[in-house]
Amino acid sequence: MIIVLKNQTTLQKREELIDWLRSKALDVHISEGQYHTVLGLVGDTGSIDTDMLEGLEIVEKVQRISEPFKKANRKFHEDDTVIETDTFTVGGGGFTLMAGPCSVESGEQLTGIAKAVKASGATMLRGGAFKPRTSPYDFQGLRADGIELLLEAKKETGLPIVTEIMNAQHLPLFEQVDMIQVGARNMQNFELLKELGRIDKPILLKRGLANTIKELLMSAEYIMAGGNEKVIFCERGIRTFETYTRNTLDLSAVAVLKELSHLPVIVDPSHATGVSRYVKPMALAAVAAGADGLMIEVHNDPAHALCDGPQSLTPAQFEDLAKTVFKVREALR
Ligand code: PEP
Ligand code: MN
Repeated sequence: MIIVLKNQTTLQKREELIDWLRSKALDVHISEGQYHTVLGLVGDTGSIDTDMLEGLEIVEKVQRISEPFKKANRKFHEDDTVIETDTFTVGGGGFTLMAGPCSVESGEQLTGIAKAVKASGATMLRGGAFKPRTSPYDFQGLRADGIELLLEAKKETGLPIVTEIMNAQHLPLFEQVDMIQVGARNMQNFELLKELGRIDKPILLKRGLANTIKELLMSAEYIMAGGNEKVIFCERGIRTFETYTRNTLDLSAVAVLKELSHLPVIVDPSHATGVSRYVKPMALAAVAAGADGLMIEVHNDPAHALCDGPQSLTPAQFEDLAKTVFKVREALR
């Protein structure tokens, strides 16, 4: 980090700032130019608040040189991270195909879909038990019962499960869940992220509706800083001025995240497009872009789904998608 001091800064004020910076375990290199003095900070500046520094009357500007994210940063971890548990692996050249309904509606619905998607090559079962709905009058999910049904479907099919958490107080219910999803609306729920940093379970961190890639990286950092380094990114589209699709799939995020971070990246073309017929082309594009996996919403009867029917594929459409995904993977080999 570099701090440019204002022209008339007194020596005393400058020394006060330098002393404070050194008290933060930073080395301070001073270079005196003709007009400005520049302080170069060496060390872990992650906890330094640049806005606070910019607000000081002696500071002209502050520039970060190294990114504020450390644990998620590829600079400090050159090799791709492979997330391995006893039930699944994400990254490392394999492909994770998560599929299932937006929300768990009944045991029959869930198990039927789970069997179908497994037969087509899905490696994980998704399904929302706690649903973040825009309207409080919409179906809120089966909650604890939904998790029970997911566990039953897991037992019946052997598919590991991924489901969304909205409140850290619900964590005991997630004990047997294989991967916990943080949904787009909670990407910056920092208290939730901190709690998830204290557990030893993979976290699927979805990008917020209006969040930058840097903010997504910083949210991963929140989880990792607490000790849980098993974080998987999920690009699920961002809000733009476009209205033909529910969101705009930012596929460049895959390339950017892969460059800046060592963590795996999953793409969710269902929420990104909101339209079932656009899901397959965007899924294929995501594979070609280098995603480590996909999350696809599948429903046995999309027209009557309690949530996100318009973007849900039928099991037959999912089978077709999966076949083509595997062909694209093969072609890229
Ligand atoms: C979901 O996966 O069902 C979901 C609510 O996704 P998002 O948080 O990306 O909107
Ligand atoms: Mn959904």
